[in-house]
Amino acid sequence: MKMKFLAAAFLMTAMSATVPTTANADGPAQNDGLNATLWLQSSVEYKANALGTYRLGTLMLDAALADKSWTAAPNEQMGDFAGKPPAIILDVDETVLDNSPYQAWVVIDNNHYHSKTWGPFVNTMISRPVPGSLDFIKTAAAKGIKIFYVTNRKAPLEPATRKNLAALGYPVDSSEDTVLTRGEQAAWKSSKKSPRRAHVTANYRVLMVFGDNFGDFVDGYKGTLAERQALYEKHDAMWGAKWFMLANPSYGSWESSTFGGNWRMPSGERRQMKLDALQAWKP
Ligand SMILES: [Mg+2]
Repeated sequence: MKMKFLAAAFLMTAMSATVPTTANADGPAQNDGLNATLWLQSSVEYKANALGTYRLGTLMLDAALADKSWTAAPNEQMGDFAGKPPAIILDVDETVLDNSPYQAWVVIDNNHYHSKTWGPFVNTMISRPVPGSLDFIKTAAAKGIKIFYVTNRKAPLEPATRKNLAALGYPVDSSEDTVLTRGEQAAWKSSKKSPRRAHVTANYRVLMVFGDNFGDFVDGYKGTLAERQALYEKHDAMWGAKWFMLANPSYGSWESSTFGGNWRMPSGERRQMKLDALQAWKP
């Protein structure tokens, strides 16, 4: 452990004992999520980014349908899949559904994600569509493409997730389970999504995957920054062609990878490790 880190961690710990958590002399308490959540909720820059991502996917649909050797699941799609019906896999949170009111509560309350608050939020079913997602999914479904939602929302939250999606007009299949939640099957207990992608590829040719987190595409998303970079480069040809990443500066494995995924570490130490991960100009 670096001395700089130790010293800073000590200082942050000492400060946290005296600084009020709700406000300080300069105004409201700082929360690492403020700018990110503000950008997601209020910027046209975010909306145009998401819309553009989905419009790019729309442009690729016919090519993906016509090319029977095309698959967006290179690590799961096995054997002869040319004759299988087409499907698209999408993550739910911050890919299809915008849950920014939850993140805004986290910021304003200077709180953090917890399943005890996340469950009640999901059950309100107030999540709105991520820009572009509804038009894209409807267009794909109209071309006969099966839509699968592969989410790390846990199985007890599936009914509310289905209702929220359906109420907004997203196709949710009733003849077969197309909302694949975490823990819904014994093999799906992990946040790693490859078993659920394999469930889809067993009967379908996957044309595209949409997500906001590296883990929506590969299982190695919890690696170090260097490991993530290598895995990202290994799949270079997929981005913007078969894999489509929505921007999410609010939360995700990109953040936790900077402090080794150790959420039990005090917040001041986590912040210091994030600062240490910055590549700064030194005047
Ligand atoms: Mg997500």
